[in-house]
Amino acid sequence: MRATVDPNRCDIAGSCVVICPEVFRFHEGSKKAYVTRKEIPKDLEQKCLEAAKKCPNKAIIILRD
Ligand code: SF4
Repeated sequence: MRATVDPNRCDIAGSCVVICPEVFRFHEGSKKAYVTRKEIPKDLEQKCLEAAKKCPNKAIIILRD
C-alpha cells in the first residue's frame, strides 16, 4: 500500500500527523503534510487508513498495489 497527500486539498487540520506520525509529517515551515515512506508497512496500514478517513479535507489518497 502507498499513500500520498494532495497539497491542493491539505489545509492545516493535522489529524493525520497525530493519528499516524510514522507516515505523515508537516513540511518544515508550512502546515501541509507529506508522506514520509514510499511503501506503507503492513503494521501501519490500519493507522494510515484511519488517518485518511479522518482527514477533513479528504486530502489523503490511498493507493493499493
Ligand atoms: S489531516 Fe488532511 S488536511 Fe490535515 S494535515 Fe493531514 S492531510 Fe492535510
